[in-house]
Amino acid sequence: MSADWDTEVVIVGAGPAGLLLAAELRRAGVATTVLERHAERPGFCRGFTLNARALDLLARRGLDAPFLAEGWQVPQAAFSGLPVTLGLTGARTDHPYTLGIPQTRVEEVLEAHALELGADLRRGWELRALRQDADAVTATAATPDGERVLRAGYLVGCDGGRSTVRKQAGIAFPGTPATRFSLLGDVESADPDGLPLGVTTGPGGAVLVIPRPGYVRVVVDDPEPPEDRDAPVTLERLRSAVDAALGRRVELRAPRWLTRFGDAARLAERYRTGRVLLAGDAAHVHPPAGAIGVNVALDDAFNLGWKLAAAVRGTAPAHLLDTYHDERHAAGVQLLASTRAQALLGTAGDGLRPVADLLTRLAEHPDGNRALAEVVTGLDTRYPAPAAPDHPWLGRLAPDLVLGTGTRLAQLLTPGRGVLLDLDGGRAAERAAGWADRVGIVTDRCPDHPDLRALLLRPDGHTAWVGVVGEQADGLPRALEHWYGPARSGVLATG
Ligand SMILES: Cc1cc2nc3c(=O)[nH]c(=O)nc-3n(C[C@H](O)[C@H](O)[C@H](O)COP(=O)(O)OP(=O)(O)OC[C@H]3O[C@@H](n4cnc5c(N)ncnc54)[C@H](O)[C@@H]3O)c2cc1C
Repeated sequence: MSADWDTEVVIVGAGPAGLLLAAELRRAGVATTVLERHAERPGFCRGFTLNARALDLLARRGLDAPFLAEGWQVPQAAFSGLPVTLGLTGARTDHPYTLGIPQTRVEEVLEAHALELGADLRRGWELRALRQDADAVTATAATPDGERVLRAGYLVGCDGGRSTVRKQAGIAFPGTPATRFSLLGDVESADPDGLPLGVTTGPGGAVLVIPRPGYVRVVVDDPEPPEDRDAPVTLERLRSAVDAALGRRVELRAPRWLTRFGDAARLAERYRTGRVLLAGDAAHVHPPAGAIGVNVALDDAFNLGWKLAAAVRGTAPAHLLDTYHDERHAAGVQLLASTRAQALLGTAGDGLRPVADLLTRLAEHPDGNRALAEVVTGLDTRYPAPAAPDHPWLGRLAPDLVLGTGTRLAQLLTPGRGVLLDLDGGRAAERAAGWADRVGIVTDRCPDHPDLRALLLRPDGHTAWVGVVGEQADGLPRALEHWYGPARSGVLATG
């Protein structure tokens, strides 16, 4: 089949994962086309939070600023089902809070950013089929002007939980099907006193009411979900579920969005098969506890962007793209464990009371509280860092250090390249010279950490190698080679 046109990467889906990935690829100069089946952005808003980890990552590209300027900060996270809040002060983050900001706004900002960097966004284009061979992926899309065929070096499915890409690529999606369903309504309450914010429990169940700008979000169990789970939810159905839970009539009106969601938990068996990759909800669906989906989608995109760009450019070591699966699939396992545990504790009633009591006791202890906060926000994410001596920052995001020149560490990462930060008068910089075409080499001082000699950061900010005064600076060239491939020929690498 001949293609209508060629590009380097096709991304399917312009949600948070697809838009951030498009920006990351464009930043690296990769020709990127994004297919989005909807001609317009949806009029409703699903998520309302960016968490500490997502903000830390966005800060590595200077992208946290627009959100911080608009959002509202809440200095804590929550573990659904436990009667304690999780403090973020003292957690390993530069953003010790949860930021309230509509997902629609996150998408608007990311879309503008991706377009500014030159992404080719095709709205109203729906991927219908794909096949791959040794050299390329061929995708067929239904478009407003009929069927079009695209050919690309790689294709990434960022097309949500029901991913066509995942199905077409034959990637299994094992896990547990939904057993409980909830109704969600973004509505106005005619009687706010009769339906207060927060959780109200009645004889038939509980109703959660969350304040939203100009309306409320009402969430209630759907006691009898229809056979067809996609059947539209009516205002009358939401009303009767609320009335049944509370045992009294509550007036709801002016629906903006009515939907049903379940507690399915599934994880793609592979995040990569050949030239096809998955990111965001396409790779994982989980119970909504913890309000983390947008954040994990961004995390996937950040991890994948620089690796895929290096693969397209032909500079990636052979194993690099597979580390995307290794690292993010492992994070997906943790995501499912955490959200399933929260969903169970929130709904299982007295059966799990001893577990909830035990976790509550742990969360009342400062260390336990911080550890749980890091688990639910993904701040505990630590990737393997071969060829590097152990250090508390290794595999994690290094803190946003202020350097002697006043530069912040995160600023060094905004171009999207890896960074070798030499804090010891040029020795590490000399050893990294053979990678200067792929890694930014910066010499500075770090008055707050006089023990540090050098830091090697991946483009996503994760620490790949740390050199400390008094320790052998072993392994820097091996760590560089592991993440960036061999040194440029003609430049000597020692150690
Ligand atoms: C009720 C609700 C509340 C939520 N609240 C929160 C919250 O507070 N915080 C949070 O972090 N997360 C929340 N989430 C989860 C969050 O919305 C998702 O996890 C997030 O949108 C995933 O982003 P994504 O980019 O992976 O996929 P999506 O945002 O689902 O984007 C996928 C895109 O792909 C497009 N697409 C699909 N198929 C095709 C195709 N064949 N061709 C072309 N385009 C296609 C879709 O139209 C869509 O635009 C909530 C979810 C729900 C349902």
